[in-house]
Amino acid sequence: MATNAQKYCEELYARVVERNANEPEFHQAVQEVLESLVCVLERYPEYIDLGIVERMVEPERQIIFRVPWTDDLGKVQINRGFRIQFNSAIGPYKGGIRFHPSVYGGIMKFLGFEQVFKNSLTGLPIGGAKGGADFEPKGKSDAEVMRFCQSFMTELYRHIGQDVDVPAGDIGVGGREVGYMFGQYKRIKNAYEAGVLTGKGLTYGGSLARTQATGYGTVYFADEMIRAKGMSFAGKTVLVSGSGNVALYATQKVQELGGKVVAMSDSNGYVYDPDGICFATMKQLKEVERGRISEYLKQRPNAQYHKGCSGIWTIPCDIALPCATQNEITEADARILVKNGCKAVAEGANMPTDLAGTKVFIEAGVLFAPGKASNAGGVATSALEMTQNSMRLAWTFEEVDAKLKNIMVNIYKNASKAAEEYGHKDNLVVGANIAGFLKVAEAMKAQGLV
Ligand code: NDP
Repeated sequence: MATNAQKYCEELYARVVERNANEPEFHQAVQEVLESLVCVLERYPEYIDLGIVERMVEPERQIIFRVPWTDDLGKVQINRGFRIQFNSAIGPYKGGIRFHPSVYGGIMKFLGFEQVFKNSLTGLPIGGAKGGADFEPKGKSDAEVMRFCQSFMTELYRHIGQDVDVPAGDIGVGGREVGYMFGQYKRIKNAYEAGVLTGKGLTYGGSLARTQATGYGTVYFADEMIRAKGMSFAGKTVLVSGSGNVALYATQKVQELGGKVVAMSDSNGYVYDPDGICFATMKQLKEVERGRISEYLKQRPNAQYHKGCSGIWTIPCDIALPCATQNEITEADARILVKNGCKAVAEGANMPTDLAGTKVFIEAGVLFAPGKASNAGGVATSALEMTQNSMRLAWTFEEVDAKLKNIMVNIYKNASKAAEEYGHKDNLVVGANIAGFLKVAEAMKAQGLV
């Protein structure tokens, strides 16, 4: 028979679907969390009485705005901007900004919701938010990107602040975009509030190791997870999807630990390099030239290019690191990975494995690190950037990297401990959701009905 907690979670899920129609990514993120929390709500029914979970699935504030700008031909363009301020129980809202044509309310909400748990897991005092626009930076000139960023910030500035809400980068938003947005914020506010954005350049308040943090952190987490089962990266064949910020630095760290990354992708296709991906070539192509991954073959003629990004999962590997985007590993992809002998998956992207795919991995005994735990190194290092901004000093690369590693090891330990305590040993999906939830829930309880 279903327990009260089960019934409560099922009814709440149905309400979320009804109130947020046509937002499947948000439903998916909520469903996963609610399934994990049943055992917590059975143990602590007061969270039901206080409406903690009901409040957590409803953003505190949602801002949607028009972003007008002109392209290089002088033509007026209109995009839609978002900032979803999800939960501020444990600190100012914090979360990235995504510029991608697929951005809409459902993606913003799923990312904001996941961010609440992720930020809690870091152990740092940061609430959860996400923002972005349905703007495509690919193929735009620097001047167009600048005009877009300035227009975006001309609205966003009134909703953010170093003690209010602190955005950062995400898909389509890197150092260039953060720079343009920071410049516009400073101009409007006539104040140098360095801590209002993270992912800044090193000459104006950025932190060393922030660029590398999400990718490195994912691999630190994966390393801890596989070491607990007597494995290591040394000599392992690894697939890394994507070739953006997270994918690049995950690749670099895997190589440092002795693993061999044989394939990477972008939204058009993937490259397979039997000699191992050349990090320097890929970094130059993607970070400097902003080229397509097919061009990798110009420098590495032994590599092969295949159209269609999901084909990457058909390559046999020991470890898979999905670092591109949501739902890039489906149930069918997961089955192929398992069949080909994949032993561990660590998500660098947010929710890259769909619910059915996650189930396949867990049932097959594949070690599985959910993104909200394994990719938390980016936001954790953003919080370290905020600390340095407040203290008006800059730590060395080694200091920041050591703190990042320590945070990732602790997230692994906390998620793993919570999973075991609640009867789900080795299930880090459940463990991360519970560990992330408890801190926020306690803070909400203490702060009353707000
Ligand atoms: P980037 O924009 O730097 O890179 C994204 C990469 O993913 C590119 O290679 C891109 O290919 C590919 N990609 C994007 N959309 C799709 C798609 N629909 N299908 C296939 N491939 C796609 O982003 P990041 O590396 O910063 O972000 C990657 C993931 O990591 C995202 O899920 C993000 O939310 C998550 N993340 C990022 C953090 C950060 O600090 N940057 C922190 C935590 C999570 P193409 O160039 O062709 O578009």
